[in-house]
Amino acid sequence: LISCDSIHKSYGSFEVLRGISTSVRSGEVVCIVGPSGGGKSTFLRTLNGLEGIQSGSITVNGLRLPGNRKVLREIRREVGMVFQSFNLFGHMSVRDNITLAPITARGLSREEANERAERLLERVGIRDQVDKYPGQLSGGQQQRVAIARALAMEPLAMLFDEPTSALDPEMIKEVLDAIRELARTGMTMIIVTHEMSFAREIADRILFFADGLLQVDATPEPFFGCPTNERLRAFLSKLL
Ligand code: ATP
Ligand code: MG
Repeated sequence: LISCDSIHKSYGSFEVLRGISTSVRSGEVVCIVGPSGGGKSTFLRTLNGLEGIQSGSITVNGLRLPGNRKVLREIRREVGMVFQSFNLFGHMSVRDNITLAPITARGLSREEANERAERLLERVGIRDQVDKYPGQLSGGQQQRVAIARALAMEPLAMLFDEPTSALDPEMIKEVLDAIRELARTGMTMIIVTHEMSFAREIADRILFFADGLLQVDATPEPFFGCPTNERLRAFLSKLL
């Protein structure tokens, strides 16, 4: 569904991504872990065209990046993204946050979009919050609204960038549960996370990014069990 061929990305003279090649099949759950500054967020943002790349290419369901505006728009429509900081529209109700894009970009009627919003909120366990504003919700609730909002576009894949790192411990579980439920339904997902036990449990594959390189790409068992990569060994040994 998603494939990357030797992508390079620099900020000025600093090369953040130094030739990343990998692919993600439909229905696969891939977790990305690694030290701070290793390029995880940058990589994720290149996948839906939020960041341009200097060389290499990315293909999402047959759409190729770098591409023109039309391709960019289409890719963003097909690939949902959830950020660490929720990024909800603060001046809009939960309902409006979720129905806006389906109405404007997918051509749904207000009624259809409403129905979809309520069904998705039900799925992430906060159906009763539909008429509140983001500022009236807990962090965990806001993040679940962000997930529902992304899902409302019926994306082919979802990208998550540290979806729980801005949350208090007691709210982490409810967000991870919502992601678990998505995995169960076969959603293709790429998740940057520091929650190692979650990654181990949910991922089909785990990617280890460090120094702008994809250092390790493995299933959870060998990834955690017998890492041969020195950088990964050092990284894992520093965790609690
Ligand atoms: P973290 O775990 O801290 O989120 P990360 O692996 O997500 O780290 P990135 O955010 O992708 O890392 O950043 C990789 C490198 O690129 C860092 O050294 C960062 O300082 C640099 N960088 C990121 N965004 C920009 C930008 N807009 N301009 C210049 N440098 C940037
Ligand atoms: Mg990051």
